[in-house]
Amino acid sequence: MAMVAERIFNFSPGPAVLPLAVLEQARDEMVSLPGVGASVLEISHRSPPFDRILEETLQGLRDLLAIGPDHDLIFLQGGASLQFSMVPMNLLRGRDAAADYILTGTWGSTAVKEARREGKVHVAWDGAATKHDRLPTADEIRLSPSPAYVHVTSNETIQGVQWKHDPDVGDAPLVCDCSSDFLSRPIDVGRHGLIYACAQKNAGIAGVTAVIVRKDLLSRSRDDLPSMLDYRTFVQAGSRPNTPPVFAIYILGLVSRWIRDTMGGLAGMHRHNAAKARLLYDVLDASGGFYAGHARPDCRSDMNVTFRLPDERHETAFVKGAAAHGLVDLKGHRSVGGIRASIYNAMPVSGVEALRDYMLDFQRSPRL
Ligand code: PMP
Repeated sequence: MAMVAERIFNFSPGPAVLPLAVLEQARDEMVSLPGVGASVLEISHRSPPFDRILEETLQGLRDLLAIGPDHDLIFLQGGASLQFSMVPMNLLRGRDAAADYILTGTWGSTAVKEARREGKVHVAWDGAATKHDRLPTADEIRLSPSPAYVHVTSNETIQGVQWKHDPDVGDAPLVCDCSSDFLSRPIDVGRHGLIYACAQKNAGIAGVTAVIVRKDLLSRSRDDLPSMLDYRTFVQAGSRPNTPPVFAIYILGLVSRWIRDTMGGLAGMHRHNAAKARLLYDVLDASGGFYAGHARPDCRSDMNVTFRLPDERHETAFVKGAAAHGLVDLKGHRSVGGIRASIYNAMPVSGVEALRDYMLDFQRSPRL
């Protein structure tokens, strides 16, 4: 189909590129779901066909992530941003202990502001002094005594800084904003108290947020919470206390199946993503400083590759020239500047190779 031939390589930080096979299946089923005769956009969220879609999507994610019986998985709306509030509302409100936040970039720093509205907060480490270009070492993290939980951001989307292993937080529940690397690699769910992620980067489209919560933590939620902000409401109603984001859940199901059947599960997905990232970091490292990475090498993200060029004139020309080659949305976030190449799950190797070749060419002969 002509539509396919016209697709560009889309390096958007999110909403982001989707697997072509998923888009094609969604297109083919858009007007009539097989065996149903109506679109997923038209059927009741309480109909048997949607029961099946929801059940398969929940089970598919449970299988991919190896979520054990101690954890619930629920789907919510409000984006990852609502979790900045819901986490402290449910896990911190009314407690004496502080919630600890490890700040490795913009998103964690945004999350901590919302937690302050709910209770005591302790910043266990903040990388702001070096513009969030790295992670803390184990002995730099200063936890409070018995924190209510410890919050981290597994991948800072704007700075391009990604944890390579979970920090050691002792007995405290580890809470992780996994929004920009969810389903890009395996997660040790058992080590976490709570994991949340919006879907519109690696896992699907905007509108649905996955929350994985350890069952014993649900007893912390207080009865004075508005019911739609209480995790228990979603657990008890199987993610359907009201109309859920049906299409976003359907797409999440298709993406999980694509990861399982085509990409070799999360371990295969991880290998694929790491190999893509290496292609670009090798260019940075061999560029003699022409491409200067924002993140320190041991903290580099496999998802968002961030770097600067010698000056803004070069950066503007780089972005413009890239677009002319069908490589789009490479401008870095305004707070960091420079270039950001987001190379999530569905970015094919061919797209990263095209960007690599363009980078090599641009360094040889920048067209300013
Ligand atoms: N956390 C991280 C790590 C993100 O990358 C984003 C979105 N870029 C958010 C939170 C906010 O997500 P949402 O727009 O779904 O609220």
